[in-house]
Amino acid sequence: MKRLVVLGGGESGVGTAILGKKEGFDVFVSDKGTIAEAYKEVLRNFEIEWEEKQHSEKKIMNADIVMKSPGIPDKVDLIEKLVQKGIPVVSEIEFASKYTSAAIIGITGSNGKTTTTMLTNHVLKGGGLDVNMAGNIGDSFAKQVAHNDAEFYVLELSSFQLDGVLEFAPHIAVLTNITPDHLDRYDYKFENYIASKFRITMNQKEDDYFIYDADDDVITSYLEKHPIRSKLLPFSLTKRVENGAYLENENINIIIDNNKLIMPTTNLALKGNHNVKNAMAAATVSQLLKIRKATIRECLENFHGVEHRLENVLKINNVQYINDSKATNVNATFYALDAMKSSTVWIVGGVDKGNDYSELYSLVNEKVKAIICLGVDNTKIINAFGNCIDNIMETESMKEAVNMAYKIAERNDNVLLSPACASFDLFKNYEERGRLFKEAVREL
Ligand code: ADP
Repeated sequence: MKRLVVLGGGESGVGTAILGKKEGFDVFVSDKGTIAEAYKEVLRNFEIEWEEKQHSEKKIMNADIVMKSPGIPDKVDLIEKLVQKGIPVVSEIEFASKYTSAAIIGITGSNGKTTTTMLTNHVLKGGGLDVNMAGNIGDSFAKQVAHNDAEFYVLELSSFQLDGVLEFAPHIAVLTNITPDHLDRYDYKFENYIASKFRITMNQKEDDYFIYDADDDVITSYLEKHPIRSKLLPFSLTKRVENGAYLENENINIIIDNNKLIMPTTNLALKGNHNVKNAMAAATVSQLLKIRKATIRECLENFHGVEHRLENVLKINNVQYINDSKATNVNATFYALDAMKSSTVWIVGGVDKGNDYSELYSLVNEKVKAIICLGVDNTKIINAFGNCIDNIMETESMKEAVNMAYKIAERNDNVLLSPACASFDLFKNYEERGRLFKEAVREL
């Protein structure tokens, strides 16, 4: 019996353990922290051995294969020891993809993964395909492969998950964009992070597809130097492409082998240029999988959007309140400001991951009437925008931030929470930050 050791007892770890057990492995789950009670219950039900608050090397170093949760860095001693001993250390995606014959649509990128994944899943479901969604969303991929397999999977893939793939080969890979992120896990080298994202194409063959943002210089210059085997389907807001998606007179055009789909951007449910790109990616996947054009258009029109991503909360006194709490970097906030059609009170701040705010100067000049800093240390924001915005305020309370915005905003303005920063100086996570924003707005 082969031994599978699972490091990390969260959603992906427990899912992998269940699948491993089903496939006849001797399974052991080890977590250095504590395992949530609900997961312990599952492990007990499946009679899977586990430990928490420690990694017992004796029970780990005898593995035939190790699944490492994406949260554990490669640099940890234990992982280095395993690698030195020649034991394969893989991600859940690598492990689980071996046990399904489904066609896989893998979606990665620095921003837009969740939105594009959910949008793609929505259209494919609308077209009647037997499709599951997994990755960073909902039930783990491995658990679904074990108990609820489907003919197609739409997977949201982080770079950490891609770092742990060896043979994983999605039939369709989507790369939404690449901007510097998580560099602490990549020796502070942007090129390492780029290479990690491109692992999504590593095992693709000639009859697979790669859909990517052709306006993103990081992606196009990497492709020039590192040709890939799969068929390229670029999308662009600025130029015509032969095969792929482009914009013409406010219409999305998607052409695959002379088959053309046209859809006005004004009909898209999700607003903003970034969402035009996400829609192009989702529609290209859908057209590749032969979903009817009418269905693709309909589904892109009736998609409800994703919580905390440019989410319209309420209109009060004709002021629109928008929750974009998931914008934890400058690029995401760039597109949020870009999507604002009128004067905006901007709530920004938190833990800065080395932000360069200069990319935002022209949008802020054009659209922002006041800045409310919501963070413990706001020096960088004040230094960046002090010259162009007169009205900059600071607070550490969401309720106060919303009240300040309420006082400043006039008819037809927007109040936008798009922090460009992580949340953990004042909040548990971006979800809590977004929820508290919405609560404060509803209490106005
Ligand atoms: P991810 O899963 O990659 O973090 P999300 O779909 O959750 O991406 O979106 C994260 C943030 O980025 C949100 O603020 C969203 O409005 C913004 N965003 C979404 N799509 C894009 C895109 N294609 N380019 C830039 N920013 C985007």
